[in-house]
Amino acid sequence: MNTEKKHTGIVYLVGAGPGDPNLITVKGLNCISKADVLVYDRLVAPRLLQHASKSADLIYVGKLPDRHTMQQEEINKLLVDKARDGYTVTRLKGGDPFVFGRGGEEAAALAEHNIPFEIIPGITSAVAVPAYAGIPVTHRGLASGFTVVTGHEDPHKDGSDLDWQALAKNPGTNVFLMGMGNLPLITKRLLAEGMDPVTPFALIHRGTETGQRTLVGTLNDIAAKAKEAGFKHPAIIVSGAVVNMREQLQWFERKPLFGRRIVVSRAREQASVFAEKLEELGAETIEFPVIKIAQPLDYRPLDRALARLESYRWVVFTSENGVKSFFKRLAEKGKDMRDLKGAVICAIGPKTKTTLEERGLKVAYVPSEYRAEAVVEQLQGKVKAGDEVLLPRADLARAVLPEALEKMGAMVDNVHAYRTVYGDGDVTLLRQQLEAGQIDMITFTSSSTVCNLLAMLTGQAAEESGSSSGMVRSSTDKSPAPGLSMLPLLEKVDLAAIGPITAATVRESGLEVKVESEEYTIDGLIKAIRAYYMSPGKRIS
Ligand code: SAH
Repeated sequence: MNTEKKHTGIVYLVGAGPGDPNLITVKGLNCISKADVLVYDRLVAPRLLQHASKSADLIYVGKLPDRHTMQQEEINKLLVDKARDGYTVTRLKGGDPFVFGRGGEEAAALAEHNIPFEIIPGITSAVAVPAYAGIPVTHRGLASGFTVVTGHEDPHKDGSDLDWQALAKNPGTNVFLMGMGNLPLITKRLLAEGMDPVTPFALIHRGTETGQRTLVGTLNDIAAKAKEAGFKHPAIIVSGAVVNMREQLQWFERKPLFGRRIVVSRAREQASVFAEKLEELGAETIEFPVIKIAQPLDYRPLDRALARLESYRWVVFTSENGVKSFFKRLAEKGKDMRDLKGAVICAIGPKTKTTLEERGLKVAYVPSEYRAEAVVEQLQGKVKAGDEVLLPRADLARAVLPEALEKMGAMVDNVHAYRTVYGDGDVTLLRQQLEAGQIDMITFTSSSTVCNLLAMLTGQAAEESGSSSGMVRSSTDKSPAPGLSMLPLLEKVDLAAIGPITAATVRESGLEVKVESEEYTIDGLIKAIRAYYMSPGKRIS
């Protein structure tokens, strides 16, 4: 934490939105980034916390299995104390801070102590969650208003703060928050107060999130249906004619990958774009990086190549990581891309090409198929005997390319620009999720992701990292595939591979490949995954 004391502290009471981390306001997000202290509770999307500065102090004040919720007075005191210490404090709350968020109490405590504060409203679940289920809270001719109430209080206690008769007779929409535990009592009371037993009801669990579930019924049967379906908190209860609009307006749950939990195994730096694209299609993603990019064990071969760059006729880049590592080292050596001016640049695929172009380099060749064999075909007849070729690659890259280039008579410098080591995915958690059948698919974007995932799941990775440099297995490694003992754990999940080589590595481990993309790119893989889950018999919605 930033220990430098500032003169005036301030508290921002920020609404984090209903669940989907993208539903926070721009102002709210700024308050997260500039906070010295971030105080948050349970319904706040964990991904939002990643926007906090590295030096920020993150304080969780929600419920924990082994601890009671921090008392409201304690939270108030915490906010006051931290602001008094001169810090910028951001208090993050689910939805909107003033809709059943006790934001009013916190603001009052701050006001009492003359602490400056600001309220940043958030999108409340009361409106957003029905919207994500295809239910407009008002609709011309169906509901000219909506009422949001707490469902937390016992509807049968004397002197209830709610006007149950008014709720039962409300011609508009009723929205109950915090009502799941009381659902049988709520419906009983509404029936007793004369609400029409066939009034449409909807329950929406974890709305706006990829795990959203919706259950529709009537006043008469919704409590029984919820019990049967094991419907859980947190959920919103909506009643009124607008519920029927869902049939036509349902959209979120109709996304092609809605309800699918997909593991992204590639390195963390590359995972987010892939994960975001899957999420846009409705999937829930679990990032489990099996690879980390590290420096080569020995920089000397690369450094020697960098020192005589002008002598290469060709430089062939076979991955985005190769490009990044190459240019990082080039800069460290006090050089830049001008030293590459004599060479013809080739890229193995579109992503590698873009990464080069972003650095201002013109790429002469990209094969139509994105793999080593296709590069060879493209360069056939162009690479002349005696040409010097530089291949800055990973330590475990396949030998196909250098061997073929040498056959053409080229003098190949195959140097390590980077090394791949095991990633830091939580193996125990992944194993539990696999055992519980909570994962639909695991994606592989290279042979090393396959080998590493299997090695990590079997515990072999831990042994290897302990004994050696933490280097990963290569696809050409001839030691027995670790996949066999994992079969039961991986039998129930769909395995997806980015191309034929990755797919072959999966099969060599005795596992079945369900999805194999035709185009060896992330977009190609996503297209194939989408087609697979949209095929008849696989569709959920
Ligand atoms: N301030 C929050 C509400 C806090 S009360 C807001 O404006 O949204 C907590 C209740 O909100 C939960 O019991 C549940 O009824 C509802 N809730 C919040 N987020 C939800 C979500 N993503 N899906 C379903 N219900 C949600």
